[in-house]
This record gives sequence, C-alpha cells and structure tokens, in this order.
Amino acid sequence: MKLTILGCYSATPRALTNTTAQVLEINNHMFLIDCGEGTQVHLRRHKIKFNRIKHVFISHLHGDHFFGLVGLISTFRLLTREADLHVYGPKGIKEIVTLQMKLADSWTNYNLYFHELTSKESELIYEDELVEVHTIPLEHRIYTNGYLFKEKEGERKLDVDLAEEANIDVAYYRKLKQGFDVENEDGILIRNESVTKPGQKPKSYAFCSDTVYKEDIVPIIKDVDVLYHESTFLEKHAHLGPRTKHSTAKEAASIAKQANVGTLVLGHFSTRYGGLEPFKAEAQEVFENVELSEDGKVFDFS
Ligand SMILES: [Zn+2]
Repeated sequence: MKLTILGCYSATPRALTNTTAQVLEINNHMFLIDCGEGTQVHLRRHKIKFNRIKHVFISHLHGDHFFGLVGLISTFRLLTREADLHVYGPKGIKEIVTLQMKLADSWTNYNLYFHELTSKESELIYEDELVEVHTIPLEHRIYTNGYLFKEKEGERKLDVDLAEEANIDVAYYRKLKQGFDVENEDGILIRNESVTKPGQKPKSYAFCSDTVYKEDIVPIIKDVDVLYHESTFLEKHAHLGPRTKHSTAKEAASIAKQANVGTLVLGHFSTRYGGLEPFKAEAQEVFENVELSEDGKVFDFS
C-alpha cells in the first residue's frame, strides 16, 4: 500500500503549497482521492502513470478538493483515453462537470460514470475481488464523505512440504490456498490449518477530510492501518474548528487514539502557519505514531 500526497493544504493553491489530492495504490489499484486545482500537473511532476487511474473519489464540492477534476477529465480526452473512468462524489458533481463539457461541446471519448452520494450513513460504494471502498460520513459546512479503502483477505500460504507429507493431490492446492479442508489420497480429511498459514494481513486506509471533530466515525475506521485526518488548525485556533467545521491536530490525534489506528497522517493544513512541526508536536501529546503530509511525499505502508 503506497500513498502519494499531491497536495495537503487548505483553501487556495499558492506558490509552494497545493490543495488536497492524493493517490492511493492498493492491491494493484490506483485510486485518486480528491482533485484540487492543478492535480494533473502534480501527477506529471511525480511521474505517476495516471492513465492507470480508473476511480476518483471526491470528498465534497469545495474548490480546494475538486477544482482539478474538469481539467483532468479533459486531459484524458486529449490523451485519447479509452478506459472507463468512475467518479464518486456528492450529488451535484455530475451537473458541475457535464455543464462545462456541454458548453464547450467537448464530450469525452471514453465512458465517464458518476456515482453520486447522498447517504448520511456509511455505505459500500465499490467492491471487486481485491478491495472494497466504504464512505465515512463527515461533518463539514456542506455534505462531505471520507473514504475507507480495505484490501480483502488474501490467499493462505501453502506449505508444500507439509502438503506432500500429508499425501494431498496437487489438484487440491488451490482449494487449500482458498482456506478449504480437503481429503488426501487415502480419503482422510486434512484440516486446512495443518498445511497452510495465514496470508499477508490485509491493509486498510481511511481518508477523513474535511470535518469538524466527529467521534462517531471511530467505529467505522476502527483498527485501520493508516488514517489520514485533516488538521487545519493548531490549538491556539481551536475555537475556529466548530465554526468552520474543521479539526485541530490534537483532535485528529484523539480520533486516531480512539480508533486504535496504526499510523496517523496529518494534512489539510491552514497556510497561516509558518511550519508544520507544531502540528506533529501537538498531535503527539495524544497519539504517538504521527506523520506529516507534505506535497510530493510518498508513504510506503507495505
Ligand atoms: Zn478543504
């Protein structure tokens, strides 16, 4: 599981800071999460093969989270993309994007699908044999979702020596890897656990931005390996959180602690501050394993 931060600041893009966008590579998928202004430029700058992106997840319709989407969709057309593109986001996203295409008479030559979200409960919105994606209902000034990405349980590891010793026909190896008990050549039932070990533990990633401090997301993101949680403010501006529906670094850490996550990645920093270290310091008063996002930073969580 690899996470590339393309932008991790709030409000407006500036000379040295980008608004929210990130690429999650998980189990052979490449997911784009949010698409702030200039995202396609940052994809190119970091040499990400962005034709591999087939799914885009937009948290909400504030500009710092999706102003790059129309540009990206348009560039895919100019690059004569053929693969389908799926966009998940709040109701209204289809109207915004298609209005621009309509007035420019520039329809895509690939299939573009919109999956508009309205539910205030967590729901499963994407699933295949390798991963699943659920929404995480957040509380912001407009309708907003975070997203939970989960690898599915992989195959069990077969100990071939033990399987041979147990006199199991190789034709059954596939079943063993899938977790089934099988009969050996003498008709004796062989318990799966006696010849296999669990495969790699499935990884999970939760993206939570933007939101006010919201404890009821804790059960949804419980025990995830990595939590990205917005931390717009430091403690000295904590009073702005409830008003603007954003969180502090310390509040993000509190959510991480309650949810027992592996690593907390902080992001969506207000550009009013000089440096990022105070975000880490304040969060670490509550939760130890904290990382700071930086534009262009790559986290390898495999
Ligand atoms: Zn924002």
